[in-house]
Amino acid sequence: MLVVSACLLGIGCRYDGGSSPNPQLLEAFSRGEVIPVCPEQLGGMPTPRVPSEISGGNGFDVIDGRCPVVDRDGNDRTGAFLRGAREVLQICQLCGLKRAVLKERSPSCGTFEIADGTFSGRTRAGMGVTAALLSREGIIVSSDEHYTGGDKSDV
Ligand code: SF4
Repeated sequence: MLVVSACLLGIGCRYDGGSSPNPQLLEAFSRGEVIPVCPEQLGGMPTPRVPSEISGGNGFDVIDGRCPVVDRDGNDRTGAFLRGAREVLQICQLCGLKRAVLKERSPSCGTFEIADGTFSGRTRAGMGVTAALLSREGIIVSSDEHYTGGDKSDV
């Protein structure tokens, strides 16, 4: 069983109200192998919402209080991002989930890359806030871009 970014399953939870459906993950969902989560919605943010980026670091830095998450209007959204990450972790622990497949480049869900904090479309290496928290708590976190199918595949 996998926890998966809900937008990858066609759920319109992205900041712009859209989604990023992944056919292989939708197949896994239809087989009952997937629990969808959106950490930004679980953190209490509305949809649609002003996009946010991690400013001056990565998800681990946010968790450890070294940098904030800021939206495009300059508002500090760190609290909502941390709340959402903790909710996703609690879902994983309640359900006994050990693996996650998350949407690349999101400030919550990015696994290898996140936006660089300048709202310019550029990216930097690093995990988003939820990916970092799950990883720190021993959950195997993988990118949607590496998912090859099944809950035991090399994701
Ligand atoms: Fe998708 Fe994660 Fe962004 Fe929610 S927070 S829209 S699940 S990438």
